[in-house]
Amino acid sequence: MFEEGLAELHTHLGGSVAADILWSLAHEQGIALPTRDYWEFERLVTVSDPRGVPDLDSLDQIYHLTELIQSSPLAVERSVHAAIGGAYRSQRITTLELRFNPMKRNRGGERDLDHIILAAIRGLDLASLEYSQVRAGLILMMDRTFTADQNMVIIEKAIKYMPRGVVGVDIAGPRPHGARYDYTQIREHVELAREAGLGVTIHVGEEGGEHGVQEIGEVVESLRPDRVGHGILAARDPGLMEAIRQADITLEICPTSNLLTKALSSEDDVRKTFRTFVEHGVPFTIATDGPEMMRTHLRDEFELLVRIGALDESELRLANERGHDASFVARRAHAAA
Ligand SMILES: [Zn+2]
Repeated sequence: MFEEGLAELHTHLGGSVAADILWSLAHEQGIALPTRDYWEFERLVTVSDPRGVPDLDSLDQIYHLTELIQSSPLAVERSVHAAIGGAYRSQRITTLELRFNPMKRNRGGERDLDHIILAAIRGLDLASLEYSQVRAGLILMMDRTFTADQNMVIIEKAIKYMPRGVVGVDIAGPRPHGARYDYTQIREHVELAREAGLGVTIHVGEEGGEHGVQEIGEVVESLRPDRVGHGILAARDPGLMEAIRQADITLEICPTSNLLTKALSSEDDVRKTFRTFVEHGVPFTIATDGPEMMRTHLRDEFELLVRIGALDESELRLANERGHDASFVARRAHAAA
């Protein structure tokens, strides 16, 4: 459908590495796996049931296993390298941002955080030598289950490694006790990152009904991010869509992921969400959330959206261009020029 290179801005390292590579990495490191059969393992590291997972917490269980396997400098380096190369070879993705939480890959402090991050940077450097057509960058993630101090360490590391390829920060993870997350507690974190020149994207408005809508409002007002991960619940609130448009915040929408986690209930729901955003002039780009784990690829997402009438080809093209433009990697290139 597209001759030009694609942009993918929302993909987690834990969901971006092919199962066979994770399988080999686990064995190289002598990790005790819950199964000795590769196909059973493949089911454990992906959303293998076409009906999806019951909720976001179930998805978190899958992430636990891939994060465990990626919890060493060797595994992080190889994972980043494989994810970037794979994205270019299979999808011709030329703008790619990979996000991960280094503290979920250091075995509770047993591994040194700087070694983990530097390993990711080595993977990035190697991939850029092999695939010079690709502009890639790393986003370091905070977590909603972490304390403010733990999250501040992530911000400090992101700033420290900015000259080496870290382009932004994010937050995700389960909400403690399933309650509404108070995003104002990371206001200082986000402010420091922004002042240093890092891009800011925030996971919010994926699920949670009315609470989710309120959370988006809080994020837009108090954190003023450049982009929002998901944000689909904003489609329910015209005032909120106007605020997002005014602030020029780009939503990173992951249709298949939203269907698999039941954040959107049907393809019809996907179509309505996109049509609402188009009508209200809300900027968005398309992503997979993690192509290997979600068993989809960016071009599959594009085809899905056209097939169900969510977007036509020219709207899709605009969303892809938006992805290249809204990338924190692009901003970094400008700053360097
Ligand atoms: Zn995500």
